[in-house]
Amino acid sequence: MAQPFIVKPGGKISLNGSGEDFNPEHSPEYTGSYRKKGDTKKYLKKLHKQMLRLQELLYAGGEHAVLIILQGMDTCGKDGTIRKVMAGINVQGCNVVNFKVPTIDESSRDYLWRAHKAVPQRGKIGIFNRSHYEDVLVVRVHDLVQKSVWKQRYQQINDFEKMLVENGTIVLKFFLNISKDEQKERLESRINDPTKHWKITDADIRERAYWDDYMEAYEDVLNNCSTDWAPWYVIPANKKWYRNLVITERVVNTLEDLNMKFPEPDSDVSKLIVE
Ligand code: AMP
Ligand code: MG
Repeated sequence: MAQPFIVKPGGKISLNGSGEDFNPEHSPEYTGSYRKKGDTKKYLKKLHKQMLRLQELLYAGGEHAVLIILQGMDTCGKDGTIRKVMAGINVQGCNVVNFKVPTIDESSRDYLWRAHKAVPQRGKIGIFNRSHYEDVLVVRVHDLVQKSVWKQRYQQINDFEKMLVENGTIVLKFFLNISKDEQKERLESRINDPTKHWKITDADIRERAYWDDYMEAYEDVLNNCSTDWAPWYVIPANKKWYRNLVITERVVNTLEDLNMKFPEPDSDVSKLIVE
């Protein structure tokens, strides 16, 4: 099946709309053949129904785990994606992990330690809200380690993810692509709405000043770490409804591709008698 939005392994993409490596489908404003949220409702409902059934198969089979990695600039919609994409699935089979500034416990170990510890068990869907990619993003932009150190990490991350995949984990990575103007609007709406104040900090405003540095860091992540075993997808994310649709569709298609069946029972169920 065609995989729109994928960053072709070994290829080169640009996030800057004017470059020749830019794919218009990656544009923050892109909404494919849809014009408005209402156009997607029926299809999204169908996808959610499929997802619930597939999650049950995933859990029953216990052979695979699914790891969904969400990355993007502040306000890009990572929390909203988790809320909407996972709406309706069985919470028992799903686990969300937030990657914050490393604690002492974490920073005194290698940067992949906390990621590895947080990967989902077989049968479950795990979501990383930020991830080990912060160690080649914020860490690079703010010179938290030397270039010679973060440069090695692309290969280390590819190897780590390959190991996960070879051991039964499906890895899906989504970069939620919003425009700088959209971020301005979202930050302003957080400032103007007292019920959203809890969502905003000085750091969000400060980080915005590093926008171009982050875009460069993200381009390198997408070009170095989209692999055959764990591809990156660039998701147009200015329109929340389209973002939710595309990600839900990709998760459902990935689960479908596993061709899962309910496992055979251990005993002959037809002979079981309930007294
Ligand atoms: P939030 O996602 O808004 O809760 O913010 C979490 C913050 O933790 C973001 O500013 C991240 O950049 C930061 N963060 C996450 N991982 C790391 C890391 N490995 N090193 C430094 N900062 C990090
Ligand atoms: Mg934040």
